Order: sequence, then structure tokens, then C-alpha cells
Amino acid sequence: MSRHVLDDRMIAGLHLVALRSNGHDHEVAHAHVAAQVGTIGALLDANYDGSMTLEELLSRGDLGIGTTDGLGGELLVVDGALYLADADGNISSPPKSATTPFAVVCPEEPFVQFPCHGDRGSIEAAIVEAGAGRSVLAVRIDGFFEVVSLRSVERQTKPYPPLAEAVAHQHTFSCEATEGTVVGFCFPDALAGIEVPGFHLHFLNEQHTRGGHVMEYVLREGVVQLTEVDDLHVELPSGVDLGTPGDGDRETIRSVEGGA
Ligand SMILES: [Zn+2]
Repeated sequence: MSRHVLDDRMIAGLHLVALRSNGHDHEVAHAHVAAQVGTIGALLDANYDGSMTLEELLSRGDLGIGTTDGLGGELLVVDGALYLADADGNISSPPKSATTPFAVVCPEEPFVQFPCHGDRGSIEAAIVEAGAGRSVLAVRIDGFFEVVSLRSVERQTKPYPPLAEAVAHQHTFSCEATEGTVVGFCFPDALAGIEVPGFHLHFLNEQHTRGGHVMEYVLREGVVQLTEVDDLHVELPSGVDLGTPGDGDRETIRSVEGGA
């Protein structure tokens, strides 16, 4: 198994390493290290072919989000288990042999937890304040949600349309008065293009039956837990380049994924 380093530098306090690997690579998870597959820029450009198995993804962390081959839905990793929301928000557990073109996971090791309630804006502000001085935050919110507005996408067929076009046909739905868990990340603006700058969160209800990509939410009562990430290892599929961190098309990213 060979892996080569394509790029290794510090960006906004984060140690960024871009890697190209050949074949399977079962690297173990490391504290504070997030493993990412692909880039949001590559996803915008319709690179939806999975390049890492979900089994390998799970070996790198027990909390995360992403999608599966062909934009097969909105993927969550919660407590080391895989959940996939289809276009209508119904959850299934994808096989570990399935692959992902875009995902990010890390070992969950919170440095802080605090009770929280309110709408998306007030909770994001509380998270930003609690995580001040840290470059990347892995986020988990467990609690009772008044409402969570969600979206998911149809699995795409080749020739793949650009993400903006695929998302134009997204399905939107909501979960109301439900216990559940939100997981995801808050990335700095300096990583726009590699990642979604700002918050990118996915939701799973307590029964593990409904979920998706979070657009808005109101938390009646819950607990926020934050894990610090100071290393990001980006695994680039063949044909996908890192691009220039910070050069991402923020407007398009915001329109398709939300975030900052
Ligand atoms: Zn998402």
C-alpha cells in the first residue's frame, strides 16, 4: 500500500495534509485528526464516484458526515455506526463495502460540553464562542428539537450533472417535536473549496428512521459537545486535485450546502 503526500502545510492553524493513496489503506484513527475523502470543490464538479469504502472511513473516526457513491444520500457516522438518509429522508444502514466520494470523520473526543437551546443562529454563535481559537470543530448536538428542516438528494446516474443541478432537485422535509442527534463540522473560511466553510451538519432522529442534511433547526433543550480537530488528512481520489484552499466558490457552496 503506498500513499504519497501531495501537499503538507499549515492553514488557519490547521495542519493540512493532502494524500493520494493506491488501494486500500486501513489507517487507524488518531485523536484530533480528521480524515476527509475528496473535496467539496470536486463534488461541485460532479465527481460522485466513491473512492474509499465506508469500512475504511469508519476506521478513521466514529463521528462524521458525507455522502455515498453517486450522491446516494446524506451520510452520518454517529457513535461509530453508519446511517444513510435517502432522498425522502428515510434512514438505512449502508453496507460497509459501499464507497464514498466525499466524507469527513474524526474520533469524537469532546473538549467541552454545554447545555443549549434556541434556533440555529443562536446555537451556532454559542459554538463559535466555545470553540474560539480552534480552527476546526467537530460538532454533536443531542436533544429535543422543536423542528429540524432537512434536505436530501436523489441518487444520480451518469453522466453526472454538477452538484448545483443535482441539488436543484433536492427533496426538503422536516422532523418536528423529536429527540435526535446532529453531527457535523464547522470549518474555517480559509478552507473554502476543500470543505464547506462554516457549519455543515446532518441530523438523525432518536428512532434512527429519519434524517438528512440540516438547513434550519430549533432546539428546545439539548447538549452540545465539541471536538477539536487540528490535523486534516484529505484523501484525493485519482483525477481530483486539492485546488487552492480558500479559493472555493463560496456562493455556489452556500447555495448547495449552506454553511457560513
Ligand atoms: Zn450535507
